[in-house]
Amino acid sequence: MAIKLEISEEKEVYRSSYFPEYVRPKIYDPGLDETIKRLTPEKIEKAYQAVFGKETARIKAIVETCIHCGLCAEACQWYLSNDRDPTYAPVAKVKMTAWELMKRKGKVDAGLVYDIARIVFTECNICHRCSLYCPFGLDITFIIGLVRRFCFLLGVVPQRMFDQNQTFMATANQVWMSQSDYIDTLFWREEEGMYELKNLRIPMDKEGVEVVWFPLAAEPKTGPYHIDRIAKIFQVAGVDWTMVTMNDYWDSSNMPMFIRDFFTMQRIVKGLYENAARLRAKKLVLTE
Ligand code: SF4
Ligand code: SF4
Repeated sequence: MAIKLEISEEKEVYRSSYFPEYVRPKIYDPGLDETIKRLTPEKIEKAYQAVFGKETARIKAIVETCIHCGLCAEACQWYLSNDRDPTYAPVAKVKMTAWELMKRKGKVDAGLVYDIARIVFTECNICHRCSLYCPFGLDITFIIGLVRRFCFLLGVVPQRMFDQNQTFMATANQVWMSQSDYIDTLFWREEEGMYELKNLRIPMDKEGVEVVWFPLAAEPKTGPYHIDRIAKIFQVAGVDWTMVTMNDYWDSSNMPMFIRDFFTMQRIVKGLYENAARLRAKKLVLTE
């Protein structure tokens, strides 16, 4: 008997009550849908003052300098991959988020915080392309980053990003990799790599090197073959290099930067830098 598969194309739709043109598929995310229930007008205004208090003149200058030429939209992957829907244009994102907050001086309700968080976290990669394309160099990414910080202070962050940040706080890497697993992986990959390059070495905590390489935590965890491939390149190129195992600071991905958790973000950068300095390495090489 043939089985008939029926796939419904219909999706539930979310319509913003603040921006009539903002219509998106409905997606449940506890990091947004549940956390906004805990907000109060006081909390929102306090977070607004903390983030935007000193920055309003700068944002105003950016918005007022903009001549709406649309060049930045042509640089944005979200705009281009959504049939040039104007609500995905970089300037629209600023208007629906930072500008709206400033217009209302932070006196907004939780529903608007939801829209704002959804826009800045899920419809912008803070890639900086729009700023590079703008003839005036207007820094849209800076503004989006501020709005992310505002949402972070309120605890309204997509669950996956929030969890990843917690992982960094606990382990200083994004994949919850223990230090012993990390070191074991480096030894394992050195052994594997020897099948191709007999005298392959993965130096650890070597002092006075030219290069210290900080991988992305996903490399030892889910793509361990990256480790020996990079090691082979360094060795064949004759580079004096090392990896770091003396403490937790070796993952260069720094996901806290994406939600603007400045404390954790700074801790990671400082940890990497201090390790490189301790080894007297001349250069830091980071994945991505
Ligand atoms: S920073 Fe955001 S708005 Fe600007 S081009 Fe990148 S994704 Fe688009
Ligand atoms: S490219 Fe610059 S001036 Fe043109 S719309 Fe974008 S932000 Fe405004």
